[in-house]
Amino acid sequence: MTTHLFKQAPSCEARLPGMESLTELYKIGSGPSSSHTIGPERACLLFRERYPTADSFEAILYGSLAKTGKGHGTDSIIQKTLAPAKTTIVFDPNDDNIPHPNTMDLFAFRGDRELGHLRFMSVGGGRIQIDGEEYTSPSLCYSLKTFNEIRAYCVKKGIRLWQFAEENEKDGFWEYMSVIWEAMKTSIQKGLSDEGVLPGGLNVQKKANFLYHRRNLGESSETRENRLVCSYAFAVSEQNASGEKIVTAPTCGASGVVPAVLYYEQRKNGFEDEEILRALATGGIIGNIIKTGASISGAECGCQAEIGTACCMAAAALGELYSLSLDKIEYAAEIAMEHHLGLTCDPICGLVQIPCIERNAVAAMRAINAVTLSDFLSETRRISFDDVVRAMKETGRDMSTLYKETSEGGLAAL
Ligand code: SF4
Repeated sequence: MTTHLFKQAPSCEARLPGMESLTELYKIGSGPSSSHTIGPERACLLFRERYPTADSFEAILYGSLAKTGKGHGTDSIIQKTLAPAKTTIVFDPNDDNIPHPNTMDLFAFRGDRELGHLRFMSVGGGRIQIDGEEYTSPSLCYSLKTFNEIRAYCVKKGIRLWQFAEENEKDGFWEYMSVIWEAMKTSIQKGLSDEGVLPGGLNVQKKANFLYHRRNLGESSETRENRLVCSYAFAVSEQNASGEKIVTAPTCGASGVVPAVLYYEQRKNGFEDEEILRALATGGIIGNIIKTGASISGAECGCQAEIGTACCMAAAALGELYSLSLDKIEYAAEIAMEHHLGLTCDPICGLVQIPCIERNAVAAMRAINAVTLSDFLSETRRISFDDVVRAMKETGRDMSTLYKETSEGGLAAL
């Protein structure tokens, strides 16, 4: 293997001058990890386009991609995407002179001759950046990117967050969101009817079906709510862990939270699909603010960035369904993140199973609680949503790498 020297890329912090479309946040893709499967898959597709005459490739994986890439299936998605060309995969977990915790180098060859190489960063939610190339997202369609800015705009115009999304997104947005909602429902329904053991060797039993059907005599309405919400979150998360199609919300690992809350509410209270789509857009704006101002990558900021963000999105979406004020929606999202601050990413064996699946269920219940609390207490709140996003980012930056999707600390070290 050749040693390749690269300059240090600029920090990812300055990467976006505004917010990208919600179509970049909600994406249908194969699990189990947006950073480890969808991102590398996109990188390989782009690389193959640049070097169409290559007959073989080499991929070097660094950081979290090297440490948990096997468990997350990064090697197989790269090989599958670049096939039929042969691809050599090298795991290099020790090189820490990398611009992002999810860094990979791709090399294209024709015979023995190297045609070229690129360094990619999988920066969360399936999004990729190329080292040394200015990031110009074709999907950048929001100029405002903090909650304070967006709130001021919405108040001035007398509109809600979903209308703010509608104003900024391109034609076809609601049709796209409708496809997203159908895909979310499909992953719940498939997950509820699935049984057996998850792949990967941990011998984790699928539990969504059991949770959904298990009824105790005299079950209280609160217990029933918890059981059903959890069964929906388990259903999506188990589909994700099985490598099936799910919707990133905002990532694969945290894909169960938002659909669980919305599906439960639709079935319980009969909300129309149109209302659900507006709620999804509202939750999406909240997720986008976090993605732009901090991170939605477990490898960059720990699980607070994935499950914490999903919980904020679900809380905001539910707030929209209940027609809460902008202040109350903000407070619900703030509560949802505040109590996930410091949450580590420590998947056992690098598989998105333990603690990830249960964590989706707990976050879905927490989102519902956050909305209830915000409805009662929003007058007395002290912390803004933008404040908590900043705190999450700083907490993530200060967190040891042991707890950022490396499978070296926490539960993964047991
Ligand atoms: S622990 Fe959280 S951030 Fe880490 S892989 Fe699991 S869901 Fe994603």
